Amino acid sequence: MTEMKIQQRLAQWLRPEIRALNAYHVTDASGMVKLDAMENPYGWPQALIEKWLKVLAGAELNRYPDPDARPLVEALRSVHRIPEQSGVLLGNGSDELIQLIMMAVAAPGRVVLSPEPGFSMYQMIASFVGLGYVGVPLSASDFSLDLAAMLAAIEQHQPAVVFLAYPNNPTGNLFDAGAIEQIIAAAPGLVVVDEAYHAFADATLMGRLPEYDNLLVLRTLSKMGLAGLRLGLLVADHGWVDEINKIRLPYNINSLTQLSAAFAMQHADILTEQTDRISRDRESLYTQLQQMVELTVYPSRANFILFRVPEGKGTALFERLIEDGVLIRNLHRDGSVLADCLRVTVGTSAENDAFLKALRRAL
Ligand code: PMP
Repeated sequence: MTEMKIQQRLAQWLRPEIRALNAYHVTDASGMVKLDAMENPYGWPQALIEKWLKVLAGAELNRYPDPDARPLVEALRSVHRIPEQSGVLLGNGSDELIQLIMMAVAAPGRVVLSPEPGFSMYQMIASFVGLGYVGVPLSASDFSLDLAAMLAAIEQHQPAVVFLAYPNNPTGNLFDAGAIEQIIAAAPGLVVVDEAYHAFADATLMGRLPEYDNLLVLRTLSKMGLAGLRLGLLVADHGWVDEINKIRLPYNINSLTQLSAAFAMQHADILTEQTDRISRDRESLYTQLQQMVELTVYPSRANFILFRVPEGKGTALFERLIEDGVLIRNLHRDGSVLADCLRVTVGTSAENDAFLKALRRAL
């Protein structure tokens, strides 16, 4: 078997858009202060871990999981204040739900639309399910929605789905709710409001779901403190949920995730204490970053902060931080609106201090 033969076969059979993709990249963070992935840095108290392990001991791993995860859905309905009349669909992370939504509407000539810079998976999943993608630039000064540009793009491209991350990743800001309402009213298809960072934002469209027939809200447990479980929620009118449910693979939520997440929802106050603390720590991290005169720091309603370093220094600074044992996220691309931008996740006080110290040294 020669390398050339494999290359020929790959070229013959793989779709060109798959060949053109780069796999979702995750940097190895072993031994580092890990502030790259918007994880909650806190674990659970030992007493709670022991209770949880007792719950897991009852798992019947020889059986398939509960296909509808009913007890878990009930627990999520109460913690996430899901409107009674809305349906809920669970995914293996909200990434899977984004994929299911797009698979359900994908057809030749159709597009999805999203403001940019935005969450990279919207464009990536669009390309692998065969949908076109339209990115509409956010206002360059403060990354707010450019409503006129969004409405014009919606009119021109008639998108099957508009994705809005609320707050937005990687910029961290919360879009204007009035602008979102106008987008929902103008959109011919679905509008997905992705509330991955709702726990830090004190803002949501969840309660508005019953008013709209084309609004879907996404949530995830990842940023609240359960990234390892992989659990996301899609909430919308039953009409949408029942249709999208048809393309969900059977048993996509494994038994251990179901039991663990239901248990965690019974103790949601602990997660809320942690996320409230992260929101407070974000404010102090923001203040300290702002005191570094070389930086432009962007206000955040999420558990991370975007900042811009002096021109031409983004990648070098990012690498200096790695040498100092601190991993954040480098968003620099030559010529992009995120040139020389880095993104740091809010960690524990000790982690935030280690980051600030390393950053001061690198600057
Ligand atoms: N939406 C947004 C806006 C995100 O930033 C992320 C994670 N980076 C996700 C969805 C996916 O989260 P998960 O698959 O862990 O639920």
